[in-house]
Amino acid sequence: MIEKKYKVVIDPGHGGADAGAEGASGRYEKDFTLSVAKKVVKLLEQESQIEVFMTRTDDSYISQESRFRPKYANELNADVFISIHGNTFDDPSVSGTEVFYYHKNSLHFAEILQKNVVKATGFRDRGAKKGDLFVVRETKMPAALIEVGYLTNPGDESKMWTDGFQNDVANAIVEGIKEYLGI
Ligand SMILES: [Zn+2]
Repeated sequence: MIEKKYKVVIDPGHGGADAGAEGASGRYEKDFTLSVAKKVVKLLEQESQIEVFMTRTDDSYISQESRFRPKYANELNADVFISIHGNTFDDPSVSGTEVFYYHKNSLHFAEILQKNVVKATGFRDRGAKKGDLFVVRETKMPAALIEVGYLTNPGDESKMWTDGFQNDVANAIVEGIKEYLGI
């Protein structure tokens, strides 16, 4: 019997000149997303049924206009796509974890990820929500954008930069992927 290999695309949000959110400490979202993404990829590389791809592996800039992120996943004919982000808001007291999806075929995937990731963060459960974001809108496979937590919340941010927290989140993302794919 030939084991099916699932293609998983991990997309660390932002990069290069696009720093993303500036956290309460002044650190940038682009570095948080890459750090978590690398941990996720390291774990996925140990899964015999998963072939993992990243949209960026360093501090490269990817223009939004190029639509590279969804195009890359579509051209690979990936089975699932996950974009990793940290959230931002004017009010520093705002906290929580949420997952965005766009197409109906992504709802179940988004809900599974939200359930797993919120357990790992311990932040407020803001749910899986429909969001008109191009990375989830223009991908053809089940796709989700995870807002792990608010980098503008000083308490949450300080946790989010720790190795332990990032490892827990990476594990939860991997568990979510495996649960969805039935591995
Ligand atoms: Zn972002």
